[in-house]
Amino acid sequence: MKILCVGRNYSEHAKELNNPVPKTPMLFMKPATALLNQGKPFFYPEFSQDIQYELEIVLRICKNGRHIEPAFAGKYYNQIALGIDLTARDIQSQLKEKGHPWEIAKAFDYSAVVSSFVNLPEEHQQGIRFELHQNGEVVQSGNTADMIFSFDDLITYSSRFFKLQTGDYFFTGTPAGVGPIKVGDVLEGYLDGEKLLHCEIK
Ligand code: ZN
Repeated sequence: MKILCVGRNYSEHAKELNNPVPKTPMLFMKPATALLNQGKPFFYPEFSQDIQYELEIVLRICKNGRHIEPAFAGKYYNQIALGIDLTARDIQSQLKEKGHPWEIAKAFDYSAVVSSFVNLPEEHQQGIRFELHQNGEVVQSGNTADMIFSFDDLITYSSRFFKLQTGDYFFTGTPAGVGPIKVGDVLEGYLDGEKLLHCEIK
């Protein structure tokens, strides 16, 4: 399986990192080895001094497809989870300056924390609320209604380049409020008010 991700899909988040708001989805990927399943701790790696959380809604792809038409995009995902796109921001800043690829800042081992999945809410077009708590304090609060590119837009666009396969995951972007983690932190993700994700930093 692969993990597709989109950067800068919420304009308030693009602004907080002084990035322009994109005109087409800015895609990147993480390999299967980046996955950290629900409940397992994340061990702070030695290569970074500034690992940051990015809480995101994750789609689970349920059908294989390429060149998917917008009208059918909704048939390619039926479950969602919360995910944390852990990012080595110090390394990413250096890579961005040089114009180099992002993999070592974004796709390292266990950088994709994923909760258990739930069925996609029927009313999801009206917006799904999600929230990240760091040691009990709300640090990110998002609503999918604020996405620049909708779930369907992301499916359509990405499938022009990459075959989507059953079991792939899609991280759909983070709202504003990203920040650093430290050893001892407890990160908890809430989906429409229900706790779905738990991750301790060791
Ligand atoms: Zn992200």
